[in-house]
Amino acid sequence: TPDTTGTPEDRAARVARLRAAIEEHRDAYYRRDAPTVSDAEYDALVHELEALEEQFPELQEPDSPTQTVGGAADTRTFDPVVHTARMYSLDNVFSHEELDEWFLRTGKSVGREVAYLCELKIDGLAVNLLYRDGELVRAATRGDGRVGEDITANVRTIADIPERLDTDAPPAEVEIRGEVFFPVEAFGDLNASLVEAGKPPFANPRNAAAGSLRQKDPSVTARRPLHMLVHGIAAWTPAPGADPEPAAQSEVYELLRGWGMPISEYYAVKHTPEEVHAFIDHYGEHRHSVIHEIDGIVVKVDDIATQEDLGYTSRAPRWATAFKYPPEEVTTKLLDIQVQV
Ligand code: NAD
Repeated sequence: TPDTTGTPEDRAARVARLRAAIEEHRDAYYRRDAPTVSDAEYDALVHELEALEEQFPELQEPDSPTQTVGGAADTRTFDPVVHTARMYSLDNVFSHEELDEWFLRTGKSVGREVAYLCELKIDGLAVNLLYRDGELVRAATRGDGRVGEDITANVRTIADIPERLDTDAPPAEVEIRGEVFFPVEAFGDLNASLVEAGKPPFANPRNAAAGSLRQKDPSVTARRPLHMLVHGIAAWTPAPGADPEPAAQSEVYELLRGWGMPISEYYAVKHTPEEVHAFIDHYGEHRHSVIHEIDGIVVKVDDIATQEDLGYTSRAPRWATAFKYPPEEVTTKLLDIQVQV
């Protein structure tokens, strides 16, 4: 709960301090791949800022970090890439009660019962792949959602990602989005070898993925065991006789799997909020049996026409939310050691 006591000047000063701290943490996390606070500490600052802006609307601003997608592209190191379709972040809920409120809001907007696709929230780096006539032509980081960083040569070193879509009828153009991640099992070895070479280790597998991919020299990326899982498409331009555009998120995954794209084996379509809660509890208990780190569960309205009706805020879709699991002790402990790219 935010401190709502004090004068309006005190509150404005607190909001300014929160925004400055959040921007600084974003810079460390997205540009330098070297966070200085844990994700839970960062989330708490964002949560406090959101609560203050909600309670005191006069403090709202369109460029507040609560309204924008984090991670401005580092255009000094990488060429900028303008995404054909915007990339978004996700809104969060931190409890089953907050998720029920989201179900209620979404159900009210839609006006009927809908199916939900549940999937693991992969703690990696968001990457956008552009395929033209079935050929991979460009890969970019998310950046601020409009402009990302060109990492095409680095992405081409990842074996999971096909150079060509496995279909005779690809769309003329399509953007395929997903996460590049560093397998948990290989993380200890990477840090040990960095320390041996006199270099600082990474704070966690997510930062190892980002630091390994955002390299000027793709041969460094090629030596890292990076993987990708994709979870979305955008900017679909049909070609005559092309595969038909899917009508549900789950159909998107079937289509992508057919094209040879790496798809998670853990997603499931659920028909009631109770089933979604059970999915969340199940992976809360089994989150360490997966090869990548997960920081939550993403719940998406499955039907694409309904997704389009619900639309987007300035930073996230209204048709999806991320249930975040409580933080784990180990991440905070690892952050005590010195970290960097
Ligand atoms: P986010 O990571 O909470 O959620 C949005 C992202 O989730 C999307 O961009 C998408 O790429 C990804 N994602 C993973 N699995 C997905 C799936 N199955 N379906 C759809 N999307 C999926 O939001 P964000 O804006 O990228 O980053 C904010 C989060 O990053 C914070 O909550 C915090 O955990 C972390 N962060 C930490 C620091 C720090 O200093 N420690 C700083 C900035 C951000």
